[in-house]
Amino acid sequence: MDVETYNMIINLMQILPCQLSCNFCAKTKVTLTQERYSLEKFITIVNICTKYGIDSFDLTPHIGDFLLDKQHMSKILFLESNPKVKKWNFVTNFLTPSPEFCILIPEFSKGTISPSIYGLTDKQYFETTGKHMFSKLCDNLWFTIIKAKDNKKKLKNINIYVRYNSSPINRESSYMLFLLDEMKKLGAREDISEICNKNWGGLIESDFERKKNGICQHAIQDNGIFLNGDMTLCNCWDTYKTLNLGNIFDESLESIYSENSKFGELIKGQMFGKYTGICEKCNDFELINIDKIEIDWLKKYINIIEKTRKQR
Ligand code: SF4
Ligand code: SF4
Repeated sequence: MDVETYNMIINLMQILPCQLSCNFCAKTKVTLTQERYSLEKFITIVNICTKYGIDSFDLTPHIGDFLLDKQHMSKILFLESNPKVKKWNFVTNFLTPSPEFCILIPEFSKGTISPSIYGLTDKQYFETTGKHMFSKLCDNLWFTIIKAKDNKKKLKNINIYVRYNSSPINRESSYMLFLLDEMKKLGAREDISEICNKNWGGLIESDFERKKNGICQHAIQDNGIFLNGDMTLCNCWDTYKTLNLGNIFDESLESIYSENSKFGELIKGQMFGKYTGICEKCNDFELINIDKIEIDWLKKYINIIEKTRKQR
């Protein structure tokens, strides 16, 4: 992954319903009760973060689809109008955007929306998701394109997530490739990812292995907050809270991110090659480039530990 600089992006970890049953998703392996942030709780948590200087938010639920959160529009509008918030984003299966939402996409000044494309044909989509909803996804993408064209708008804040699939297809006959090309002509970006290889922190079987050595980028960039205020080092995969950093309603973010905190202990451990909780079995490790960390206090902190490590 090409990263210019690392900044902290806090994920507001809801557990929501989802129409799909992707074969790599923890949804197919665990039973979890839904956890939705009320608008009030959402605002409280965002305000705690911005007070500490965190200005970027990931709204992708831990499991489920953000567009199935009935208050998704109110939450987005709160972030858009909050001067302390710089960026927000979410990944979505894009099966239930309202017409109003599709039309509004180009107007969001801080947000990035990432529709997941789990296949280029109905067959590929069904193989990964277990559902025949490919045509619904195509219809929603086409509606968004048409409305952007009608209104003479760009789709620069769409980042299309094409989940890697190696099955050969006939390019000429793929309607999805046509849609992706049309979106790219309007400024959308494309991100080809191999998420289907990931093992969900060891919950899902996978042959894919990645050697760990140093601090994982997700540990710095992708911390998450659950509904009850518990924080986790890794919002991507920590379904059972094995990387709990503390609770934002019981202690301040200054204390949660201090040198002698659980966070400090986990980061220090990774620098010395010790991976605990789900990090131990996870195959989504991505080595961070320490020189590209933007967060001043963290940079200083890591440099101190790095010096200690080199002296050993
Ligand atoms: S779309 Fe996301 S939440 Fe839904 S089944 Fe697929 S991976 Fe899981
Ligand atoms: S090793 Fe895996 S679980 Fe640990 S922080 Fe990185 S991505 Fe998350």
